Amino acid sequence: MKLVLMGLPGAGKGTQAERIVEKYGIPHISTGDMFRAAIKEGTELGLKAKSYMDQGALVPDEVTIGIVRERLGKDDCSKGFLLDGFPRTVPQAEALEVLLTDLDRQIDYVIYVEVDQSKLMERLTGRRICKDCGATYHMVFNPPSVEGKCDKCGGELYQRADDNAETVENRLEVNMKQTQPLLDFYSEKGYLRSINGDQDIEVVFAEIDKLLGGLIG
Ligand code: AMP
Repeated sequence: MKLVLMGLPGAGKGTQAERIVEKYGIPHISTGDMFRAAIKEGTELGLKAKSYMDQGALVPDEVTIGIVRERLGKDDCSKGFLLDGFPRTVPQAEALEVLLTDLDRQIDYVIYVEVDQSKLMERLTGRRICKDCGATYHMVFNPPSVEGKCDKCGGELYQRADDNAETVENRLEVNMKQTQPLLDFYSEKGYLRSINGDQDIEVVFAEIDKLLGGLIG
């Protein structure tokens, strides 16, 4: 099962990604998470990525494609994977095609979680993440049982540095410009499947699950 999950920031992509990888046992490859981990560890990659991320800008393609190439080459990706946050540009999508052809693999679906742009700002500024396990919550739409604490591991919840109103505005603008050409690219290739993300989390997942069930059945 080789999947790309797409959606503008705040569309609920991360939440659906967690559910998909849990149910189907495939590795979750999130370039954003990889960059954040590198920043935390203070690696060279982290230093490179930080200045772009702090501004809500995209990390240059050659850096991003390089880390994905390395990750997809690992053994745990041989049966499948879920790419989340990559590709974000047409050159990245083209690079992914080349990379997968080299590995003798092909994408099954590009799942696009679609949410009206006007709703995304509210969703993003309310987002909270667990410091320990990375689970995501929303103060209004998906709150934890105990305020500020993760339901899964009890870890402390925090707000991502780039989820503040100003950076969010820039991220949305950058993303909207980049998303349409990618949707066109994948639509032409016949990979694209749009799911209405403006529904209850469980309903969105049920629709994705139905689609993916067809791949196994
Ligand atoms: P995300 O967690 O997917 O929202 O990504 C957070 C930030 O990481 C983005 O705003 C970019 O600065 C950077 N980033 C993540 N994925 C990519 C990508 N595929 N290409 C370029 N930059 C990326």
